[in-house]
Amino acid sequence: MILEEILKIIPKIDLHCHLSGSVRPETILEIALEEGISVPTNEINKFKSHVQVNDDCKSLKEYLTKFDFNLMVMQKAKHIERITYELLQDTAKENVKYIEIRFAPMLHMNQGLSFEEVVEAVIKGKEKGEKEFDIKSNLLLICMRHQSPEKSIEVVEKGAEYIDRGVVGVDLAGNEHDFEPTIHEEAFKLAKEKGLHRTVHAGETGIPENIIISVEKLFAERIGHGVYAYQNEKVLEYVKKNKIPLEQCLTSNVQTKAVSNFESHPIKTYLDQNIVVTVNTDNMTVSNTNLHKEYERLIEYQNFNFDDIKKVLLNSVEVAFIEKSEKEKLKLKVEKEINSIIKSQR
Ligand SMILES: [Zn+2]
Repeated sequence: MILEEILKIIPKIDLHCHLSGSVRPETILEIALEEGISVPTNEINKFKSHVQVNDDCKSLKEYLTKFDFNLMVMQKAKHIERITYELLQDTAKENVKYIEIRFAPMLHMNQGLSFEEVVEAVIKGKEKGEKEFDIKSNLLLICMRHQSPEKSIEVVEKGAEYIDRGVVGVDLAGNEHDFEPTIHEEAFKLAKEKGLHRTVHAGETGIPENIIISVEKLFAERIGHGVYAYQNEKVLEYVKKNKIPLEQCLTSNVQTKAVSNFESHPIKTYLDQNIVVTVNTDNMTVSNTNLHKEYERLIEYQNFNFDDIKKVLLNSVEVAFIEKSEKEKLKLKVEKEINSIIKSQR
């Protein structure tokens, strides 16, 4: 079997995927035209450059400008539902077995939707998708760093009402340089009390110390990215010793210039040091990627072999925000498929 085919059938897990960064470009354009949103061009191929970065993306700041249209078309319940459904359709097609989809409800309330209407719309899309495709998913609600601590508390309080409907946790995202994690300490403490899992973007484009602060003060069970851990010996030791899972997103990190190229990403070094590494997409549309492409690049630029892929997949199962019994089921499914692939290669 050629690599292309193998990558297609490998079972996959995505723990770090932003809904608003993973909308089909065709859908963005279609909804924009339907809603009378002014777009720079009606031609899909030209439009893509407005919602997708290319190789010469210079910074996280430039990267973030590519979300503008996505957020504009995600202000009505029917569109949010459709976009969630399509994400499950697309990921199921590449044999993703489990995905945790994250979104910031507050960013979808610009045109009158309530917090509850936004979350309900995502849940509807999720339920419809799961019914039709062979995929399981859960939802993470994002608190935005630049927003007030009260807004984060609101996300946690309201979000906790949906625990039995697929909302499993919260995340902290946004400008890491100007807003320290501790601003949102109270919200994350409350999340823990209410039984919501916690993941925090930290050490993505700097400030490795934020990784320790997020674990100790925000009770983070996983760290979004954590690329920069290696820049501080103490942080790296902490991550190793405490088995802090890192949600790694290779392509996104190259585009935001967290690392300068695919070869220099620390992911393989982390894996070889037995750090709990997982492989994720971050933003499928903005980064023009999917898990298939991520693994392809890991093989090409990071020397990943199938045993490495198996290792990161089992890490993902282990640290997924799901019940123990569900983990066992997922583990069996993933192990069975990947073992037969590895066997066929020997
Ligand atoms: Zn992210």
